[in-house]
Amino acid sequence: MTIKTTGIVLKVQDYKEKDGLAWMLTQDQIVSVRVRGIQKESSKLRSGCQPFLYATWQIEERNQGPGLLIHATPICFFYRVMEDLTIQAFSFLLRDILLKTKPSPLLLETFLEYLKAVQDQRNSVFAYGCFVLKEILCAEGIQPFVDGCTLCHRKDALETLSIKEGGFLCHYCNQNGIKMNKSDMRKVYLLFKASSKNIDVLIENCHFEIKDCIFWADWYERFEQTHLAGLKFLKTVVDL
Ligand SMILES: [Zn+2]
Repeated sequence: MTIKTTGIVLKVQDYKEKDGLAWMLTQDQIVSVRVRGIQKESSKLRSGCQPFLYATWQIEERNQGPGLLIHATPICFFYRVMEDLTIQAFSFLLRDILLKTKPSPLLLETFLEYLKAVQDQRNSVFAYGCFVLKEILCAEGIQPFVDGCTLCHRKDALETLSIKEGGFLCHYCNQNGIKMNKSDMRKVYLLFKASSKNIDVLIENCHFEIKDCIFWADWYERFEQTHLAGLKFLKTVVDL
């Protein structure tokens, strides 16, 4: 049976002597395919199998293993991902995390919006990046508690975000710990209360930088108890 699917190509790698394997993020799954002859320069499928390409794939399903890619139609290639080393390193980090996360229409939509922001060279690009990470943290159930103090649940006298406790802490539970400034706390609150429909409000009110993206990727790494090689690389790039 032949199926058609549309999404963002996440990963492509060589397979055996001439073939390749490729993965696409769609609304409800990560589709993997075998791509015959992709290593040949004359391959017609090559242009439809590049990371950060939005495309439609026609796939011949197999009883076992990944299906066979028979036709690929590029829709939009977000080539500007490759033009800036920080953006590139962060985009591959998001890609690595998305490969580990259960897909949803929301994740596809927010990742696409991030790539559009990269392509349009918008200065809000890291707000969109943080927004993708926020949706991933929420999908995994490891988002910070921001509706009050994470320990005593009081809603006033909030003074910091505790990574150790996984959310906001009030003055009494913080026990002379480091305070966070009010505007940074507001930024965290607005990020986790934002939806894809009102992301403009978030962008108008807060400025996000790559260090914010690194903070939430650190959060992911800690609460998923995993190690992200791409995060370590991003940190070395940003320190340059
Ligand atoms: Zn408290």
